[in-house]
Amino acid sequence: MSARRPLIAGNWKMNGRKADGLALVRALADWLAGEGAAHRDRFDMLVCPPATLIAPVIDALGGAPLDVGGQDCHAAENGAHTGDISAWMLKDLGATHVIVGHSERRTDHHEDDEQVRAKAAAALAAGLVPIICIGETEAERDAGQALAIVARQLNGSLPEGATGTNVVIAYEPVWAIGTGRTPTAQDVAEVHQRIRAEARGRIGDGADALRILYGGSVKPGNAAELMAIEDVDGALVGGASLKAADFQAIALGC
Ligand code: PEP
Repeated sequence: MSARRPLIAGNWKMNGRKADGLALVRALADWLAGEGAAHRDRFDMLVCPPATLIAPVIDALGGAPLDVGGQDCHAAENGAHTGDISAWMLKDLGATHVIVGHSERRTDHHEDDEQVRAKAAAALAAGLVPIICIGETEAERDAGQALAIVARQLNGSLPEGATGTNVVIAYEPVWAIGTGRTPTAQDVAEVHQRIRAEARGRIGDGADALRILYGGSVKPGNAAELMAIEDVDGALVGGASLKAADFQAIALGC
């Protein structure tokens, strides 16, 4: 049994008007205060709404034990970067975490490891925990390169000053995101083991405390099996985090 408390993180992506986000977070807060309270010490829970909803979601929490994070940040503290949001701005709103390097950012916005590392460094400087996403494409897996790709992305994206407790890694095979497909338990175990070994080379024994999340089509029906895999310390959940009942069921899978 791992000493690392699992983190169940929801990535709402570009979904939800204010009423939707508030209804979702209120349902989660109610569950955490009610039926979920008995299970609360088994996991940490985080939601990452669109930037427009971070402040109202935090206001609606009413002290519920649920963290709120951003989905991306700029590497600079402020300046002439139209449309961007800095880690310091997220911190100022009350966010605790920020996702960096999600494959949709790497693809849609052509972000590379160096940019992801700069964003993660900014998150640390602002007092946020960066959730650094890495993962291979289907072509890379088919070519037998999955382990080499995640090792390269991890080493390229991990900022100076990272420790086992101030960053989180999310392994998200690109081909599993939003597709309903997941790697085999053996493949997940192999990649997570490699990530921890690479992290050990960078941060030493702190790697024992590092939380490595699995992400990609996590659902209530497969959560328990995925969370039981050695070196899996929680989940980054996309689609299924938009329904309170599904997100809760995933948390109960820990
Ligand atoms: C994600 O985009 O981070 C993700 C894991 O999505 P989904 O759960 O929908 O596959």
